[in-house]
Amino acid sequence: MNESWMDYGKCVGKSPNIFFPSSGMGVDRARKICRECDVQEACLEYALCNRIKHGVWGGRSERERRRLLRQAAA
Ligand code: SF4
Repeated sequence: MNESWMDYGKCVGKSPNIFFPSSGMGVDRARKICRECDVQEACLEYALCNRIKHGVWGGRSERERRRLLRQAAA
């Protein structure tokens, strides 16, 4: 999968800690940034395809991505 979208993420240059939060409040902070990101869709697809378990990707938390994968498998 082409990963060039990564260069255009709103998270580029920001602390990775923001996107690997330890609480729900932290997830909201990351989500706000992702919401304004031009490559949100590609990011989420990448995380789902690669079964990335940790962090916020494409504006979705770990739990939300697990749910999306379960729904896709059903
Ligand atoms: S959607 Fe969020 S995590 Fe993904 S590239 Fe954009 S800002 Fe970064």
